[in-house]
Amino acid sequence: MQQSRRLAILLCAAVAPLVTDAQTRPYAGKTLVVVTAHADDFSIFAGGTIAKLIDEGYTGYLIRVTDDEKDGVASAPENSLRNGREVQDAAHILGIKDIFQLNQKNDELETVSPTELMGKLMLLIRHLKPDVVMTFDPWAAYEENPDHIKTGRITVQACWTAQIDRFHPEQIRAGFQPFYVNELYLWARGPHTVNKVVDISSTIDRKIAAVRAHRGMIRDPQILMDLRAANRRLGELNHMQYAELFHYTNSIGTGSGDNYKALEVVPMEKNK
Ligand SMILES: [Zn+2]
Repeated sequence: MQQSRRLAILLCAAVAPLVTDAQTRPYAGKTLVVVTAHADDFSIFAGGTIAKLIDEGYTGYLIRVTDDEKDGVASAPENSLRNGREVQDAAHILGIKDIFQLNQKNDELETVSPTELMGKLMLLIRHLKPDVVMTFDPWAAYEENPDHIKTGRITVQACWTAQIDRFHPEQIRAGFQPFYVNELYLWARGPHTVNKVVDISSTIDRKIAAVRAHRGMIRDPQILMDLRAANRRLGELNHMQYAELFHYTNSIGTGSGDNYKALEVVPMEKNK
């Protein structure tokens, strides 16, 4: 009797962490890739959701497209170095595992060949095989920053074309496989079609800490207070404490039944 009780206790001790992990990290094994035009965009627009998805089990990677040389009070090379260091701090706070830097010239992305930029993003997509990609919504209105516009447009296109082996076939010949990205979370600073509201009440403090890490780019502390207030206001409107908004799709133009469902607007949907 005593022995079976001891066995039960041992079994409980062995099983308990697994049950807890399955409950708190339901998406363990999944991969999130965030594509940011500038060092600070991802934390400002999606930091709470990124931290939440990583908390829930995703492994997160960041692709930083530009070198941010023009954002800061020092010389261009010094700005680029400082912003490069601080983006690592911000990513670390949110739990991101690794950063890939494309080092395109800041505010001059329009001059970069779309084929060349798409090829770099496709290579990383084929390498990382993300379940979810987050970036700017290329269909958002009134976006004036050319880096934001092009980063969103080319990233979404790369998520589509990475599945087709005849796009950048040299990557396939080098051993990478075609890969289709199923889920997109698209953020915007202007009006866009929002169909996903993510409750970030559990991660708002880490989000603000991550944004604060960009000391060279976010020089006015009032911005941090305004950002927290904006996320609180979005939360209140959706019956939660703090929220971030996205246009979400789980299929981009395959013409399948799933695609039809993805196009339905679900305004009050919480994070899955
Ligand atoms: Zn930006």
